[in-house]
Amino acid sequence: MQRTTHQLYLSIGGNLGQRKANLAKAIELTSEEMGMVSQVSPIYETKAWGVENQPDFLNQALLVETMLSPEAALSTVLKIEAAMGRVRERKWYTRLIDIDILFYDDLVINTPKLTVPHPFIANRNFVLAPLADIAPDFIHPVLQKSVRELYRICKDPLPVTTFLSKYTTK
Ligand code: ATP
Ligand code: CA
Ligand code: CA
Repeated sequence: MQRTTHQLYLSIGGNLGQRKANLAKAIELTSEEMGMVSQVSPIYETKAWGVENQPDFLNQALLVETMLSPEAALSTVLKIEAAMGRVRERKWYTRLIDIDILFYDDLVINTPKLTVPHPFIANRNFVLAPLADIAPDFIHPVLQKSVRELYRICKDPLPVTTFLSKYTTK
């Protein structure tokens, strides 16, 4: 039986502990558990979205070539979060790592456990900025706009800054 790969776009982020090392660990586990990570965006830093008074987040977007079904991809990201020690507190509060499924090919999925495309893509600079680096021409299958266009018209007031450039010492 021939098994085809699917294009899975993920958003990863966190605001606790060794933030940059946690992103790297999440990428390593993703490639082990889900498939080849074929694109990795630069890292962006942003103020917390939704619940204020918590440390700033680092965020990144990834493209994974996966043979997992959408449901298996979701349970795998939840497993990776748990393996990395994520504890769920209040919604949108501090976390070591959060891994969200942004797109799975151009599928639209609405089940109690899984919504794809992720419902808040168009509302979040911290998702759109890194995603626009790796997939500017990808068309959101519900909104029918490119990622580049969604980022251009996004109303999110929270600024995002590239993280590495700020800290790189020559
Ligand atoms: P937000 O959805 O606003 O980004 P969050 O990432 O903080 O919030 P979590 O507590 O990480 O929310 O996830 C709660 C649940 O969301 C998960 O257990 C999962 O079942 C569900 N979920 C639905 N759609 C998705 C998706 N596209 N990617 C990841 N989780 C999803
Ligand atoms: Ca999230
Ligand atoms: Ca999540």
